[in-house]
Amino acid sequence: MASYKYGTYLSQSTHEAFDQDHGPGSGAPYAGIYRCMGCHREIGIASGHILPPQSHHTHTTAQGSIRWRLIVYADHNPK
Ligand SMILES: [Zn+2]
Repeated sequence: MASYKYGTYLSQSTHEAFDQDHGPGSGAPYAGIYRCMGCHREIGIASGHILPPQSHHTHTTAQGSIRWRLIVYADHNPK
């Protein structure tokens, strides 16, 4: 599970981007931390980069396919 020390660097959001799953090998729509919804593995990725493919790690049948979901958005261009 992602963790942090100082809450002042994070803010809660209700943006729909946090509710969408992305298949392995697809483009990451936003930079940040993505969680595999099958096994809870997390990765960090830059905007526009390709999310890890199906061969990235192995799942049990019960875990299903790899589905990446944005859990922390990284702001590359703060105002
Ligand atoms: Zn996984």
